Amino acid sequence: MPAEVYYDKDADLGLLKGKTIAILGYGSQGHGHAQNLRDSGCDVIVAELEGTPNHEQAVKDGFKPLSAAEATRKAHIITILLPDEVQADVFRAEVRDNLAPGKVLVCAHGFNVHFNQFKIPDGVATILVAPKGPGHLVRSEFVKGGGVPCLIALGPGADDKSRKVALAYAKGIGGTRAGVLETTFAEEVETDLFGEQVVLCGGLTALIKAGYETLVEAGYQPEMAYFECMHEVKLIVDLLYQGGMNYMRYSVSNTAEYGDYTRGPRIVTDETKAEMRRILAEIRKGEFAREWILENKAGAASFLALRRLEREHPIEEVGRRLRRLMPWINAKEV
Ligand code: NDP
Ligand code: MG
Repeated sequence: MPAEVYYDKDADLGLLKGKTIAILGYGSQGHGHAQNLRDSGCDVIVAELEGTPNHEQAVKDGFKPLSAAEATRKAHIITILLPDEVQADVFRAEVRDNLAPGKVLVCAHGFNVHFNQFKIPDGVATILVAPKGPGHLVRSEFVKGGGVPCLIALGPGADDKSRKVALAYAKGIGGTRAGVLETTFAEEVETDLFGEQVVLCGGLTALIKAGYETLVEAGYQPEMAYFECMHEVKLIVDLLYQGGMNYMRYSVSNTAEYGDYTRGPRIVTDETKAEMRRILAEIRKGEFAREWILENKAGAASFLALRRLEREHPIEEVGRRLRRLMPWINAKEV
């Protein structure tokens, strides 16, 4: 059975009237939520670190940023939009003791709640309102009169009334203009981690690197390998995004389509799927979360070493040179 989708008519912004909403963190999501809610008629305050570019941005956008502690104290609804790996420390130091029964804690990703990094006081309702897109899109679609679809979920302390608040909040950021689906914290967190590890980030980059290396090791020019294994991914992804696999296969040549059906399954095999199941099990048991939390507590040394190593992969150097030949792609450097 397809999931129920909620729209504008299912949500009542009146539930947010007379309530102050604190947006903690004016980054990607924060700037979108804060401005959209304000434009929806809500009373919004912002917390940012003084002396940072995002603090300046918040001021430019007409907010008077406070500390996270002060904002939490003043607000009824507190949305925590800090980077996931700093949320637990800020929560303990500034948020927890300023929460009180009746207040609502909102997050846009359930990692810290699901993996018990917050000890949420009794009487506080925790909800998830997660736009399925980056913050700049949450803002730009809203300004155009549209919105980005959102997921909502009920966490610790939340009840039926909290679901109405979650829907009202989703309406305030434009989500119900596009459609809102209900999930659970566990489902949102586990599918999100799985997707980024197995397909979107981990799987895709491993596939690209292996393809590139295979061609270069066989004596082909690195430039050719870059075009075929990295550059053209975008053309295919755009087709998948617009019309799914059918549309992609309709658009490519019959030769490419036949190669897809007959060779693809030799690359992602039953063994690959067995490994996917192992990765999913690590996520569900909290093993990945424990590893990542400890890694950050230990100063993230191995994370930073991996980042350095990956940045030096030959495909990155070739790519940098080739992207300069294509000004229309708006090449980025980190
Ligand atoms: P960003 O890193 O873009 O923004 C976080 C902001 O918090 C930055 O402005 C940062 O300041 C600020 N900040 C850092 N530490 C503190 C502190 N101690 N006190 C006050 N402010 C602080 O994060 P995102 O918007 O990407 O992510 C926020 C949440 O939204 C996360 O839970 C994420 O999982 C979720 N989410 C993100 C999506 C996305 O596409 N980006 C999509 C859906 C959900 P500065 O950087 O200036 O130091
Ligand atoms: Mg995700």
